Amino acid sequence: MSDSSIPASKQTPPANPWLHFVERCEACTACSLNQERKQAVVWRGSVKANLMIIGEGPGEREDEEGLPFVGRSGELLDTLLAAQELGPESYHIANVVKCRPPNNREPSLEEARACRPLLNEQFRFVRPQVILLMGGSAYKYFTGDLDTGITKVRGRWIQKGSYWIMPTFHPAYILRDSRNKAALWEDMTKVRDKLEELRLIPPVKG
Ligand code: SF4
Repeated sequence: MSDSSIPASKQTPPANPWLHFVERCEACTACSLNQERKQAVVWRGSVKANLMIIGEGPGEREDEEGLPFVGRSGELLDTLLAAQELGPESYHIANVVKCRPPNNREPSLEEARACRPLLNEQFRFVRPQVILLMGGSAYKYFTGDLDTGITKVRGRWIQKGSYWIMPTFHPAYILRDSRNKAALWEDMTKVRDKLEELRLIPPVKG
């Protein structure tokens, strides 16, 4: 029997909790980044995935299209993922903030903190076992280690509870300075190897 004193929204769970979550992100005004965004940029790939890829925040193209990593950085990322035989069914892509910082500046600590509850909720939907953090902002805001630069930590596994974290360079950085392209490839190979080791994907056919 329903209790008429409880609001209807509390009595009836949303038919699709994931879509309800995305709608809440799109309506979010928890930090000032909502003021200049065209739209919140929440995800692409698969809702549930063994690999979660987390970047910094949406750029101009992402803000236009409503999808993360769709500009030149996204093209490079997709090329590298495809070369590792990782298709969209294998991963879920997100950012530490869901709205575009003006002039593509780095998100502030306050903005990343304001967005963190949504990222945590997203994480619980995805349930990844391996996380690829792309760039210094993703590393520091996701791990809380605000003092260590990405060049010091990239390529080294961090185990946290039941999941594994691999920090690496952001593709946009590699596009500006290709000297670290081999390092990015090496880190993505480690991710592929970890997914295999955990038996989450089949081994690459030789
Ligand atoms: S960046 Fe995150 S916290 Fe800020 S308005 Fe957008 S969705 Fe909300």
